Amino acid sequence: MAYIRLDMEALASNVEVVRDRSEGEFAAVLKDNAYGHGLRPIAQELSRLGVGRAVVRKRWEGEEIADLFDYILILSDLPQRDRFHYAINDLSGLSKAPSGARIELKVDTGMHRNGIEPHQLEEAFRMVKERGLLLTGVFTHYRSGDELSSELFWQRERWRRVKEEVRSLSSRYSLPLPHFHAPNSAALFRAGRDRDEFARVGIALYGYIEYPPLFDLPPLRPVLSLWGRRISTRRLKRGERVGYGGLFEAPRDMVVSTYDVGYGDGIFRALTECAGGRILGRVSMDSIVLEGEAEELPIIEDAREMAHRLGTISYEVLVKLSPFIDRLR
Ligand SMILES: *Cc1c(COP(=O)(O)O)cnc(C)c1O
Repeated sequence: MAYIRLDMEALASNVEVVRDRSEGEFAAVLKDNAYGHGLRPIAQELSRLGVGRAVVRKRWEGEEIADLFDYILILSDLPQRDRFHYAINDLSGLSKAPSGARIELKVDTGMHRNGIEPHQLEEAFRMVKERGLLLTGVFTHYRSGDELSSELFWQRERWRRVKEEVRSLSSRYSLPLPHFHAPNSAALFRAGRDRDEFARVGIALYGYIEYPPLFDLPPLRPVLSLWGRRISTRRLKRGERVGYGGLFEAPRDMVVSTYDVGYGDGIFRALTECAGGRILGRVSMDSIVLEGEAEELPIIEDAREMAHRLGTISYEVLVKLSPFIDRLR
């Protein structure tokens, strides 16, 4: 069976790099099956390394790791009155939350995807008070941490004004001051974090950052590699063709083997090359053909490399990996 190897030493080393940069003030983002790595094994290791905060998308993901973290933020689910903190993305979200629920207000400082507008803050505080909600956090998300422009910096200015206003509203409504969090991986490594906030770090923990070539990269190491196991081997005569449509024609006599990964596992069908070499013919649902007869071969060693071949980013390559592949450490 094909398998994913998780290099926990690389994970520990990335945690150190992130700790250095954030002075320990970060939450680990574990949404989408920990970016395809496997929610439970990554959560266990992070918890063992002393990481206390986690961010996921749905409540069921929070439940799966509830024993491992003190603080879990759910980005996109209906708030309930339980131990989790729920992101609120617009004012109507506030009216749907049951009293006593822990909620965190997302504020739109320029990404225009989710969050309340800064001018709605007062209204939001009024609703929080009236409905008896526990406002534990206020946060924002940067749209351009990974771009060569000054956008990050004006968005940060807006965010600082939001924090000021939240401070004054908290005292006016006599509510405890919520915590703040803002930078993702790219923004953290590019511009750091303010002293009064923590970062939400996903991709950097897994070993990547999507910066343009001019930027310096922090010393991160890929955690995941994907390996295929050999199913069968054959000798091709020159001129024989391989796979659907006979796309590959042997230019000489050669030995080829079939490996047990395909687009059903999350390897893109458009791919023509992987870490183990040139892919001969089409990627099938459950297999690919490579030259040689090694018992196993690496298919992904560096997700960024594969992403660039496909015109996408490491995130997409990683999250597409099937949760059914065995994760070994
Ligand atoms: C996914 C996500 C992050 C993590 O972003 P990275 O670029 O992986 O560090 C942070 N905040 C929010 C709201 C997210 O959805």
